[in-house]
Parts: sequence; structure tokens; C-alpha cells
Amino acid sequence: MREVDLFVIGAGSGGTRAARISAGHGARVMVAEEDRIGGTCVIRGCVPKKLYVYASRFADDMADAAAFGWTVGMPSFDWPMLRDAVAAEVTRLSGLYRKGLNGAGVEIVEERAVVAGPGLVRLVRSGETIKAHHILVATGGHPVLEPIIPGGHLGITSNEVFHLRTLPKRMAVVGGGYIALEFACVFARLGVEITLIHRGDNVLRGFDEDIRMRLRDGLARSGMTLKLGQTITRIDEGQHGVRHLTLQDGTTLDVDAVLVATGRRANTKGLGLETAGIALNPDGSIPVDAASQTICPTIYAVGDVTNRVNLTPVAIREGHAVADSLFGGKPWTVKHYPIATAVFTTPEIGTIGLSEQDAVKVGHAVTVFDTQFRPMRATMTGREDRTYMKLVVDPDTDKVLGAHMLGPDAGEIIQSLGVAVTMGATKADFDRTIALHPSAAEEFVTMRSPRKG
Ligand code: FAD
Ligand code: NDP
Repeated sequence: MREVDLFVIGAGSGGTRAARISAGHGARVMVAEEDRIGGTCVIRGCVPKKLYVYASRFADDMADAAAFGWTVGMPSFDWPMLRDAVAAEVTRLSGLYRKGLNGAGVEIVEERAVVAGPGLVRLVRSGETIKAHHILVATGGHPVLEPIIPGGHLGITSNEVFHLRTLPKRMAVVGGGYIALEFACVFARLGVEITLIHRGDNVLRGFDEDIRMRLRDGLARSGMTLKLGQTITRIDEGQHGVRHLTLQDGTTLDVDAVLVATGRRANTKGLGLETAGIALNPDGSIPVDAASQTICPTIYAVGDVTNRVNLTPVAIREGHAVADSLFGGKPWTVKHYPIATAVFTTPEIGTIGLSEQDAVKVGHAVTVFDTQFRPMRATMTGREDRTYMKLVVDPDTDKVLGAHMLGPDAGEIIQSLGVAVTMGATKADFDRTIALHPSAAEEFVTMRSPRKG
């Protein structure tokens, strides 16, 4: 029987990082991947999504160019060209991930693997059983087609949206989270008539209320139709592939595609975890402790399959910590707070730390500094865009508990601000930082008067 120090199931963000670092520490590592190397982020997530976001924003750039003296001809957009160019880039990146694993001396097995007991992994296609001193489950998650309704199978998920044969004329997007909103904004700017259908009374539950409210207004301004407090009750197939939607209030809607983005579930089905005594959480994810160790001491799990914070950099960090802890002689654990995150809508959101509402909920006294202004570029183009920035400060300690932004480059700005917030910066630290002018980001260090009330 072949034997390794670490068997990694899943070559996504968390798995590849853990495998490479462990091999670098001298461990014998094998990684199994049933799909393409790179996982969700590279193949059907962050990377192709962000390339689509770039593509979609040229629409505004071309329209705005005239205000700066440019003459732009009649723009036209070629969906198959974009789709195929993005697919080619994804293939290139997946190749780089493979190269990285090979270069580190990791053995890649291209098939499904399952746990066959503590210290045992079974390769499903070949039937081979491998002895593994440690197993890392990094199998990620998959989109769900929910709610389960008659004709629900006529919807597509974020997996299929990257491969649409033609650009639909009309699209319904179901959900009010990251994926629904990012794709709604992308396709709206590519010229698709978007109807966003969300069960809540506002999008992005859990984000700061000031951001949510302004995003909702920004979405409405971008021309999409928002149907909030609504769900789909059935989908019927009409002629020429038309999807005929019936909503909860009895109204109907015809579209050419329905993108369902109502969440994701951990890839644990049939994974054999019960053979090692591991019972799953009610949502199907794997319970782990702060060191990403399961109840079975030789089995670890990282990334989306644990449903802690489902973001690529978090999966990477968790995988890195497991590798260092097991083979690097330096055990450490990942702190899951604060974590900066962006929602690549247009307008974009960047946020780190506590929302005003959560700060109050966990017992902080709260002072809010915020500002809203017209981005400099919009003063020339006449666009109605507004940038919004907000600092949530604890007046007792002067610590900045949260920084939130809606507007161009919010993700980039909050990533940099994230260092200060992670270090525990105070409002006084922000105040003594000299502004970089002219920039939007400078507003974060020039807000002096707290919001009243
Ligand atoms: P994954 O990357 O999903 O990798 C798991 C791998 O395991 C997969 O390749 C799968 O094929 C493989 N696998 C599963 N079961 C088996 C098995 N039994 N045997 C062998 N292989 C198996 N996060 C961000 O931070 N920023 C973003 O902008 C962002 N955008 C996103 C956009 C979309 C559309 C989606 C869907 C997600 C996005 N995310 C984003 C989330 C991010 O992609 C995930 O958090 C991240 O990929 C999780 O990494 P992971 O290693 O846990 O799992
Ligand atoms: P989210 O959890 O972000 O959003 C799911 C949405 O679907 C919510 O609005 C939720 O509503 C709604 N919903 C859930 N169940 C139902 C149902 N049965 N009927 C109707 N609506 C429902 O999930 P996503 O799939 O958008 O994204 C998954 C995760 O991937 C994200 O949470 C994030 O961690 C990661 N991601 C990160 C990105 C980034 O960093 N930019 C981009 C894309 C994904 P409600 O709020 O009422 O529960």
C-alpha cells in the first residue's frame, strides 16, 4: 500500500496551499482533484467573475469618455469573444497551479478520493487505497438550486453562467447575496435586462445598513428592476427557451435565463467521513476546531467545506496554518476576525470589521463618522453616482471597529485600510495620517465630526 504524510482531498484554494507548504516542509504529499486544478476560485469563481466585472465596466467608461473630450464610435459587445477569452485565461491559471504543485514535489491524482477510515483514503476510479498519516479535506462547496419549486431545474447557477452559449436579452437573478448581486451588475452593464428577485426587504443581509441602503439605490439607478420581498413559486418553459416565471404575489415574468444564486453547500456527500467517526453539521459542513482539526485527530478540514468564512484568502490561510502546524514545527491558528471583503457590484463595496448594527449588538458604545460625495470623475460626466464612506468607532477606546465603503475602488481601498484596522488603529491614528490628495481614499482620514444622533 502506498503511504504519504499528507493526503489532500481537493486542489482548490485551501488544498493547493496546504499541499505546497507541507511539501516545502519536507512532507510526502498527495493531492486528489476530481475536476480541474485550482478549484472554485480559479475555475468558476473569483477569477473569471472579476474578469467579467472588468468587461462590464467598459460600458460606463465608453459613455463617460465623451465628457473628457474623446469621440468613441458606436460600441458593440461580443459575448462569445469575452467568454472564450476568460475560459482561456482560466486554463492558463489552472496550468500554473498544476506547475506549482509539481514544482513543490506534490503528487497529483486526477480523480475523486474519499475517506476510508482514520489514516486511509480510497481513490474512487482506480480503487487504490492510500495510507495517509494525515488527511486534509478541502473539497469546497457547490451552488444550490433553491427554493425547490416546480420547474426549478430550468434555472442555472453560477457554474453554468460562465458558459452561456449566447448572451440572454432578459435575465432574472434570484438571491440578494454576493453572487446574485455581482452577476446582476455584470449582466446589466453588458446590456441584459435584469430583474433581481430577492426574498428579503433589502439585499446583502449582515452588511452595514447604510451600505445596504445605498447599494439598493445604486442598483435601481443602474436600470435593473428590483423585486424585493418576493420569491419565485414556479418556472415554466415557453417557446424558444423562454422561462415563464410566476412570483409569490401572482405576477408573471418572461425571461431568457434564470440565474439562481441562493447560496452554496459543502461538498461532503459520499465523502466517507462517517468511516472516521465524523458527524456533519446540520448544513452539511464539517465541524472543526480552531486548528481546523476534526473530531478524528488525523483528519483536518479547511475552506468552504467547513462553512466558516467562505472566501478564498481564508481557505488559503487555513490551509497554510494546517501545513505549518503539522510539518513546519510552528503551530498557529487563523484569526477569523477582522476579515476584509469586497462585493464587486457596481457600485462596489469594501468592508472590514463590525457594522454599526453589529457593534451595538455586541455591546460597544458607537460613534459614527461618515461622508457621502460625488466622485471627482462624475463631476465631469454628470453621473448621479455617490461614494459613501463610514467609520464605526468605539468612543471608550477610540478604536476603529469597522470601515465601510461603497463606490469606485472600494475593494482596493479597504484592503489597504485593513492593515490599520487589523492592527487596532484608533480614530486618532486615522486623524494624524496626512491625506493623499486628490483621492477618494483621503476622505477616510479627513472625517472630523461624528454623525449626530
Ligand atoms: P474550492 O476552491 O471549491 O476547491 C475544492 C476542490 O475540491 C474543487 O476543485 C473540487 O473539484 C474538489 N473536490 C471536491 N470533492 C472532491 C473529492 N471527493 N475528490 C477530489 N476532489 C474533490 N471569494 C473571494 O474571496 N473573492 C471573490 O471574489 C469570490 N468570488 C466568488 C465568485 C463565485 C461565483 C463563487 C462561486 C465563489 C466566489 N468566492 C470568492 C468564494 C471562493 O471561491 C471560495 O471561498 C474558495 O474557492 C474556497 O476554496 P476551497 O479550497 O475551500 O474550495
Ligand atoms: P450568500 O449567502 O451570499 O447569499 C445567498 C442569498 O440567497 C441571500 O440573499 C439569501 O437570502 C438568499 N437565499 C438563501 N436561501 C434562499 C431560499 N431558499 N429562497 C430564496 N432566497 C434564498 O450566497 P452566495 O451564493 O451569493 O455566495 C456564497 C458565498 O461565496 C458568499 O457568502 C461568499 O462567502 C462567497 N463569495 C464571495 C464573493 C466575494 O468575495 N466578492 C463573491 C461571490 C461569493 P437571505 O439574506 O434572506 O438569507
